[in-house]
Order: sequence, then C-alpha cells, then structure tokens
Amino acid sequence: MSILVVGSVAYDAIQTPFGKVDRCLGGSATYFSVAASFFSAVSIVAVIGEDFSAEDLSVFSGRKINLDGLQRVAGAKTFFWSGEYGFDLNVAKTRDTQLNVFADFKPRLSEEQRNTDVLFLANIQPELQMDVLRQTNRPRLVALDTMNLWIDIKRDALEAVFREVDLIIINEAEVRQFMREPNLVKAARQILALGPATLVVKRGEYGVLMVTRDAVFAAPAYPLENVFDPTGAGDTFAGGFLGYLSSRRELHDREFRRAIVFGSVLASFTVEKFSLDRLREISIADVQERYQDFRALTHFEDYEV
Ligand code: AMP
Repeated sequence: MSILVVGSVAYDAIQTPFGKVDRCLGGSATYFSVAASFFSAVSIVAVIGEDFSAEDLSVFSGRKINLDGLQRVAGAKTFFWSGEYGFDLNVAKTRDTQLNVFADFKPRLSEEQRNTDVLFLANIQPELQMDVLRQTNRPRLVALDTMNLWIDIKRDALEAVFREVDLIIINEAEVRQFMREPNLVKAARQILALGPATLVVKRGEYGVLMVTRDAVFAAPAYPLENVFDPTGAGDTFAGGFLGYLSSRRELHDREFRRAIVFGSVLASFTVEKFSLDRLREISIADVQERYQDFRALTHFEDYEV
C-alpha cells in the first residue's frame, strides 16, 4: 500500500543538556518519511524555501520516497522551529516557530496522490491537514499527529480534523490538554468518542499506549543509556508504525501491535544523535535486530501453581 504524508520539512535549532545545534535538518514529514520508507513507499506533500540545501535534500534519495509533491518557493525561507530540552527529555519547550513557506501553502494533489491507501497528516497547521484530507479519495487508513501549539491556537480546526480520521498519534500531555481532563484513560476515551477507532499515546521514555474501544496495549521505550536529542522521536515512531502497517495485507490487532514495536524501534535510533544523523546510517538489519531485543525485553511466561 502507498502512503501519502503532509507535514513539515524544516530547519531546526535545538538545545539539549548534551549539546546545541543552530541549524539542522528537521520537520515532521522528514522524520516520518525516512522512517516509513524502511517498509513502504512514501510520497511527501510539503514545501521548502530557496535556502534548503542539496545536501539536506539528499536525505530522501536512494529511498522509496517520492518528491513530486515537494514544492520549492524561490526567494522564500523554509519552515523553522527552535526548541529546548531540560534534563527531563520528555518535555520540549518551543522557543520559536516560523511557518515561512507554510503560511501560504495550498497544495493540489495529483490523481495518484488522491488515491493513496494510507494518509498521514503529520504535525502541521490543522487547516492544511484538512485541506489535504478533503482532496483524497477515501484512503483505507487516515492517521494524524499534532502538537500543543495547535491545541493552543487552533483547537476548533484541530477538533474538526480529529472527527474525520481513523487513528490519532499524540503525546500524553497533549491528550490531557486537548480534553482538559487530567485522567489519561478518561481523556483517551473522550477522544475516541469523537470518531477515531484508535488512539496511540506517546509517553516519551515510558513508551506507548494504544487505546481502542475494547482493548489497551502498552509497549515500553527501548532502554537506551545515551539519549542525546529526542527531537523527531514522535514523527519517527509514526513513520515506523504506519510504514510497517501499510506493508501488511491485513490490518488486524496483531499487526497493530507489531507496528507499535517497529515504531518504537525506529524512534530509539533517532534519539541517539542530532537531527536525522542516526536514522541515515542504519539499515533494515539494525531495525530487525532491535525488534528482537524488544521481544526479549517484554517477554514473560504465564505463572504455574
Ligand atoms: P517531534 O517528533 O514531535 O519531536 O517533532 C519534531 C519536529 O517537528 C521538528 O523537526 C520540527 O521541525 C517539527 N515541528 C515543530 N513544531 C512544528 C509545528 N508547529 N508544525 C509542524 N512541524 C513542527
């Protein structure tokens, strides 16, 4: 199955307790597409400015990533995000967001893009997510990610998109913030009541919780000794998750659980270095090996009396 993603292709400035970088490749669609391309073909719908370098563009080459929907605007600047993390790496503090080329981005999907099997609305302004969703021709699976900024300033537009998707992938704090409900399980149920069949709650170093109307599945994060920069972990998770799912014929519960683990595996690589530096150097064999480590990490036998 094919995946279409709309989201940011960006430059980031990042400060963590372990280092600082003033300008590096980032963006929700960037992390997502590289991660998903380990399993499936991906098409990107996004926009970059004249300042986007050939070296950064090369992150997509040699992978199953179609760039027909990646526009470049002459004389304009690429999306820019600046964020900071303290010792609690689960919490990103945004210092600056400059939409730049995304402020007026009105993509027109081609016939092939409209007929995608899987659509991922990666983190970007909710009106753009809705615009792309409305142009597609009933994909088999529509998933969405977002962030606190859009809950703060575009809550109604975001809720309108929530009502039209099958699956939401979102941070724990954002679940509570969106529903204004401190209890995570209650807030998750309230989001499902809006329409989506599945909610995947990202809990940083504590892993992931998948909630459906009749089941809950939990997976830990990979216990890494060196977490360097958590930027992109969420988008990479979504890429591994949806990339694996869309490579399967049947989308049943067992495949969703495997997909959660593949997403977690890919995210665990992203956080080992700045930007996409680690993601760029790994192979599918590295991914498969870490999947087996995850199995060992979580396996336990039934007890005997
Ligand atoms: P995450 O996976 O949640 O850590 O996402 C990190 C990426 O999201 C960064 O590379 C940023 O460029 C991008 N990003 C940050 N804020 C926004 C925003 N408001 N809209 C779209 N992308 C964003």
